[in-house]
Amino acid sequence: MLVHFWGTRGSLPSSLSAEKVRQKIIKALKAAQGKTFENDSALEEFVDRELPFAVRGAYGGNSACVEIRGGDEYILCDAGTGLRDFGQSAANTRGVYNVFLSHLHWDHLQGFPFFAPAYIPGNRIKVYGCNPGMEQAFVVQQGPPFFPVPFNAMRAEITFHPLQHDVVYEIAGVKVRGTKQHHPGDSYGYRFEKDGQSVVYSTDSEHKKGSESPFYEYLDFIRETDLLIFDAQYTLLDAIGDKENWGHSNNILAVELAVEGMVKRLCLFHHEHTYGDDVFDELLEDTRTYLRILSETSTLEITMAYDGLEIEI
Ligand SMILES: [Zn+2]
Ligand SMILES: [Zn+2]
Repeated sequence: MLVHFWGTRGSLPSSLSAEKVRQKIIKALKAAQGKTFENDSALEEFVDRELPFAVRGAYGGNSACVEIRGGDEYILCDAGTGLRDFGQSAANTRGVYNVFLSHLHWDHLQGFPFFAPAYIPGNRIKVYGCNPGMEQAFVVQQGPPFFPVPFNAMRAEITFHPLQHDVVYEIAGVKVRGTKQHHPGDSYGYRFEKDGQSVVYSTDSEHKKGSESPFYEYLDFIRETDLLIFDAQYTLLDAIGDKENWGHSNNILAVELAVEGMVKRLCLFHHEHTYGDDVFDELLEDTRTYLRILSETSTLEITMAYDGLEIEI
């Protein structure tokens, strides 16, 4: 399986301003001072190896949308604004699109009105989720006064398929199971399995008291997965401060659960929209440091999601 991240921000998309781009250029030029590059590949190597990601890149601005390749059809988790970019990528003009919704909060739906394949006759879009009211949420967000093009103007065949959590389904050649998560209005994580490999998509989830227990039920859900995509919206300080009960988790808990669940790779996801790129670089370093403190022998790999990241499993 291959996982492509099209949208990684939480709660709200977040764009780069001209001033932020300018600051990145200044930092890059400072780092390059006094150096000469024989050719373009030497220059690219300098950019890729010497510049921090916060300088050479950006952690991404689209809200949640993750593609899982490896099934017989397209598989997407959530329909945040990243869905627009996915829809516009050249290859995605005809087919069957299976969209799994973690829940119906706006940042996980708002890309759908801009999803080009939904306007093309012959395409089939199947929307899956465990929350009631999926179809109504899609119709309402494209109704007046919110949006000019009504849902029924989309020419693809769009169907809604309610799922039960804790039941294994076979969809698009992949086994998938949902689990209920603690979040305002409830959210659901999904575990996808194919040919002995697995990916867990678990966003918008706050882990409350009991999560420190080795018998915490969620650990069975993530156990030994190849990739855990985990809501780490906040720093620990924010998570236990005034943002407690907002329905999100933090990087420290992410590591603790991933280690206890013997996860192979952890990807921090649903980034806080007010944090800048420098904060994410630091957060990733802190998270890796915490892993070394927690377990000297752990082989857990930790990644920070960004729009465009691909992880092969
Ligand atoms: Zn969200
Ligand atoms: Zn939410």
